[in-house]
Amino acid sequence: MISFTLSDEQKQLQQLARDFSQNEIATKAAHHDQTGEFPEEILKKAWELGLMNHQIPTEYGGLGLTCLDGCIIAEETGAGCTGIGTAMEANMLAEAPVIVGATDEQKKRFLTPMMHEFQLAAYCVTEPAAGSDVAGIKTVAKKVGNDYVITGQKMWITSASKATWFFVLAYTDQTKGHKGLSTFIVPANSPGIEVGKKEINMGQRCSDTRAITFNEVKVSEANRVGKEGDGFKIAMAAFDHSRPIVAAAAVGLARSAMEHAVKYSKERTSFGVPIYKHQAIAFMIADMAKDIEAARLLTWLAASKIDNGERNTLQAAYAKTFAADTAMKVATDAVQVFGGYGFNTEYPVEKLMRDAKIFQIYEGTSQIQRVIIAKEIFDRQK
Ligand SMILES: Cc1cc2nc3c(=O)[nH]c(=O)nc-3n(C[C@H](O)[C@H](O)[C@H](O)COP(=O)(O)OP(=O)(O)OC[C@H]3O[C@@H](n4cnc5c(N)ncnc54)[C@H](O)[C@@H]3O)c2cc1C
Repeated sequence: MISFTLSDEQKQLQQLARDFSQNEIATKAAHHDQTGEFPEEILKKAWELGLMNHQIPTEYGGLGLTCLDGCIIAEETGAGCTGIGTAMEANMLAEAPVIVGATDEQKKRFLTPMMHEFQLAAYCVTEPAAGSDVAGIKTVAKKVGNDYVITGQKMWITSASKATWFFVLAYTDQTKGHKGLSTFIVPANSPGIEVGKKEINMGQRCSDTRAITFNEVKVSEANRVGKEGDGFKIAMAAFDHSRPIVAAAAVGLARSAMEHAVKYSKERTSFGVPIYKHQAIAFMIADMAKDIEAARLLTWLAASKIDNGERNTLQAAYAKTFAADTAMKVATDAVQVFGGYGFNTEYPVEKLMRDAKIFQIYEGTSQIQRVIIAKEIFDRQK
C-alpha cells in the first residue's frame, strides 16, 4: 500500500523542526550570510533538540530516526537557511559511511560520543584535482607496522576546522584503481594535519569549507573502516543515505523561494493589478508549486526505499538531481518575480539563488547524477 501521509510522530518531528527553523534559523540567516560566521550556537541548540546526527542507530545512543525522518528535518531547516542546514547535515555525511562500513567497536568509539556531547565530523573525499572522478584522488595511506601513514590533500571539506574527526578516503594500493582505495577515521588533532583558510563561497557562506593537508599523518589500523580495497564502495554507499537528505534541503530552499514569490506577487502591482494576475507570473508560480511537490515525492521515495532495506541508488540520484535543479530554477524565477528588488541584497531571494547553486555541485554534480541514472538504465538492459 502506498501512503503519502506522515505518521503522528513524523508530524510532531516536522513541527519541532519547523518551529526551530522559523525561530532560530530564518531569523539569523541574513546575519550568517553577510558575515560568514559559523552558526555554532544554532547547531548546539539543534543538537540539544535531537535535530542532528539523526541517522545514528539506537544501539549506539542514537535516536533511531529513519532516512525519511531526516528528510523531514532537512526540508524544514533548509527552508530557514541552507547554509546553516549544510553545517548541520555535514555530520550525517561523515557518519553515513561509518554506519555503513564500520565495526561495532568503531561505531561505539566514534558515533556514540556524537550523541553524548556536541561534536562535528567531516567527510574527506574530494581533492584539488579530483571531485567527480573519485578514483583520480592522490592521497595515499602507507602501511607501517600496525599503523597507516596518510599523505595528501583534500579540498572543499565542509566543517573542516570544526570537526573532531575526519572520514578519509586514500589509496592503500595505487596499482588497483578504485579497488585499491580504503577509508579511515582520522582524529582531527592528529599531528601532521593542516587545515586551510575558510573558502569564501558564492552561497551557503556560513558553512565552513576548507582544504585539509595530511602530512604523514599516523593513524592506527584500528581506525581503518572496512577491509583494504573496500573504500570506494563504502564512501559511495554513504551517498544513498545522504543524497535524499540533500534533496530535502533543496526542496526546503525552493519552498521558501516560492513563499516569498507568492507573497510579493500579491503585494506588487503593475498595470493596475497585483502582478500574480498576469498569467506569465501566475504560471511561473504554478510551475514552482508542481516541481516542488514532485521533488518532495522523489525525495521521500528515495528515503523510503532505503528505510525498507531496498537499494535506492537510482531513486537517490533522481531525487538529488531533480530537487537541485528545482531549487535553482525556483530561486531564479523568484528573483524574476521580484524584478529589480530580486537582484538586491536587502530582499531575501538573491541569497536563495546564490545558496541554491551548490545543490547542483556537491554530493555529486547534476551531470554525475545523470551518469548514475543512465548507467542504471543501461546496466539493467544488459
Ligand atoms: C561548498 C562545497 C562543499 C563541499 N563539501 C564537501 C565535503 O564535505 N566533502 C567532500 O569530499 N567534498 C565536498 N565538496 C566537493 C564536491 O563534492 C565536488 O566539488 C563535486 O563533487 C565536483 O567535483 P569537482 O569540483 O572536482 O568538479 P569536477 O569533477 O572537476 O567537474 C567539473 C565539471 O565537469 C563535469 N563532469 C565531470 N566528470 C563528468 C562526467 N563523467 N560526465 C559529465 N560531466 C562531468 C562536472 O559535472 C562539472 O560540471 C564540496 C564542494 C563545495 C563547493
